[in-house]
Amino acid sequence: MAEINVPAAALGKHPCPECGGDLQWNAAKQALVCPYCGTIVPCAEASATPGANASAAAGASIVEQDLEAALRNPASGRGWGEQPGDQKREVQCQSCRAISVFVGGKVATRCEFCGSPSIIAHESTSEAITPQSLLAFKVSEGQMRESLRQWYGSRWFAPNKLKSAALTDTLHGVYLPYWTFDAQVNAHWRAEAGHHYYESESYRDDKGETQTRQVQRTRWVPAAGSLAHFFDDALVPGTTGVHAALLRQIEPFPTLTDLKPYSPEFVRGWTVERYQIDLHKAAKLNQDDMQAQIKTLCRREVPGDTQRNLQVEATYRGRTFKHILVPVWLVSYTYGARNFQVLVNGYTGAIAGEQPYSWVKITFAVLAVLILIILALALKH
Ligand SMILES: [Zn+2]
Ligand SMILES: [Zn+2]
Repeated sequence: MAEINVPAAALGKHPCPECGGDLQWNAAKQALVCPYCGTIVPCAEASATPGANASAAAGASIVEQDLEAALRNPASGRGWGEQPGDQKREVQCQSCRAISVFVGGKVATRCEFCGSPSIIAHESTSEAITPQSLLAFKVSEGQMRESLRQWYGSRWFAPNKLKSAALTDTLHGVYLPYWTFDAQVNAHWRAEAGHHYYESESYRDDKGETQTRQVQRTRWVPAAGSLAHFFDDALVPGTTGVHAALLRQIEPFPTLTDLKPYSPEFVRGWTVERYQIDLHKAAKLNQDDMQAQIKTLCRREVPGDTQRNLQVEATYRGRTFKHILVPVWLVSYTYGARNFQVLVNGYTGAIAGEQPYSWVKITFAVLAVLILIILALALKH
């Protein structure tokens, strides 16, 4: 194994400088490694492509694309940036519908998201939007197995099958598709602001005597204002393969600071999921989300003790997007008729999982508690 430095320009084509094989990203070494001869090429060298300064300046070479232009012209930014020698194959799972992309290397025989063996070749469509940048795997397989072991240890009533699934071949590293959106929002709001005040009121009590009491009243005053807000890298998942609620639990992914420009050697040998939430759908989800957040921000601006009839008019300018890939370690297994997943954030190590409950274990635990209670009662007498 030799660690050598090669001219950056030669790496644009990503062959191994020793044997000419295709380099692959290695999470444990945080470098590109040749799977044939073991040569290690440091990543700073590898991502230094002519015209774009790597590592420190990696953020600078990551371009935000104009959203309106892309929606108007569906042909922009399409086609994966693969090399002529790179074979890209797509398969679709007939059970969960997830589409997996394999750049070079092996194609899985089972769906990595649900474990189903019924996968068929998927026509790789040239109009798919290219991932422009990604977070490369940082959590290595060894680190991930260790945190899985700990996570499993904290699941008291999980069946043993989960443990074996978590530690064996149902475990895969996958790159999931995400959209990120930026936008500058200016909003004007109008509302009625309510100010509380108190009045004395007289009334007759049970004995028929006149009493006075304080009553709260509200004076309504029209109010208006405006605010500006910049949304930076709002994330919308493009995945259908992993369960959405789980994915939310292992976010965030540090896309603002740590993205690298996309290059096939990062994904070669890993599975990439092709997005099925397309740009139109994702942009709509993002817009709804921004609108809800802007409304909340405006609500906070309304003066007074209470408010009603809030109306917000927002204009969105400079909407841009990126299509990115993020790394996730995935355990997928079936128990009974259901598919369960455990996810580990391949960058931060955050973990979240679903689990069935083992009724055998729960029954034994309940019996054990009952026996303890009976023993305690017996000892008292
Ligand atoms: Zn080699
Ligand atoms: Zn599937």
